[in-house]
Amino acid sequence: MPESVTETPLVDRDSFPATAPDAATAVLELDLDVIAANWQELRRRHPGGDVAGVVKADAYGLGAAAVAPRLYAAGCRHFFTAHLAEAIALRPRLPGALIAPLNGPVPGTEHAYLAHDIVPVLGGLGEIERWTALARAEGRKLPVLLHVDTGMNRLGLDAAGLAALADAPERLAGLSIRYVMTHLVAAELPDDPANAEQRRRFAAACAVLPPAPRSFANSSGIFLGAGFASDLARPGAALYGINPTPGRPNPMRVPLRLRARVLQVRDIAAGESVGYNATWRAPRPSRIATLGIGYADGWPRPASGRTRALLTGGGFDGTPVPLVGRVSMDLTTCDVTDAPPVVPGDWLELMGPTITPDDIADAAGTNAYEILTGLGPRIARIVPA
Ligand SMILES: *Cc1c(COP(=O)(O)O)cnc(C)c1O
Repeated sequence: MPESVTETPLVDRDSFPATAPDAATAVLELDLDVIAANWQELRRRHPGGDVAGVVKADAYGLGAAAVAPRLYAAGCRHFFTAHLAEAIALRPRLPGALIAPLNGPVPGTEHAYLAHDIVPVLGGLGEIERWTALARAEGRKLPVLLHVDTGMNRLGLDAAGLAALADAPERLAGLSIRYVMTHLVAAELPDDPANAEQRRRFAAACAVLPPAPRSFANSSGIFLGAGFASDLARPGAALYGINPTPGRPNPMRVPLRLRARVLQVRDIAAGESVGYNATWRAPRPSRIATLGIGYADGWPRPASGRTRALLTGGGFDGTPVPLVGRVSMDLTTCDVTDAPPVVPGDWLELMGPTITPDDIADAAGTNAYEILTGLGPRIARIVPA
């Protein structure tokens, strides 16, 4: 097989991104100001109530340790994680803010909640009993959120649980209900009848519970209109640039760029194949650049051959080049035959404001949530100062 590895830079390029750790071959560059601007935009679109920051799963893979304090600096005072451990890790960075793990409290974690001032999301009579017992033992009222199930059927009080509370409100003794919340199952589909049905069920549930502030919309719910507004919206995805209105222009800005480094460049003859199982064969003499990112980094294998990389930064002009061949565990290959000269050490942009997380998700047959939360620990998170 003819092979020529270009070792000397053909053009003089700035090292880019400048702050990339030397050893990293993939970097995720975050613009925290864009995340803060997205949060402000969501506040503008939810005028009747407050807006929380959902930072579960390490802020959807972007890095909660950087994202949550930036939202706090912007004025955000309500944070949702999924796990208790995520909440505890953020506690010292978010003084005075409400931090609540959406997954609810696992038995035996009660004292950790108290010790770290984490507010539980109670979604069943058993959990409520544990917290009322805790309040009695502590001799004080304890803040909680009540999670009502209005159609998701995963977590939250069901109809029987609600009826039990309606019949015997003393079951909530000792609890200070900060919010009653529920979660929409299809908010990204404005015409789905589930939305109106959940709104009806949520109103009915709140009517039988003690009066308390309400928390309703996720990202897409904020865009469903005033009927879905509440005292506290809980957006996650939209903060991170995922389009909360699929099929319509994205009202959010993408706050990230994923770049991978060129490890080698080689010229191959027409008819040669690239990668496992020879899924791509060169139709003409071709130049292939091999990038240091693969499915072990969460770069999705199903997107093999279905997306492009951009030559951006360092003097490049944004030329797109097609990914060819199969994404493997640690490597991805692209066809740079028609591109300006690419050399080992160059950074190619795989995802960002131009080829968005939603675009990559479409190419991979999944949603952008899975793309972002799947980005692995070998990808260096860079937060430019
Ligand atoms: C994840 C989650 C959210 C945030 O949803 P997005 O679609 O990312 O805005 C809100 N509420 C609950 C209960 C969640 O699990």
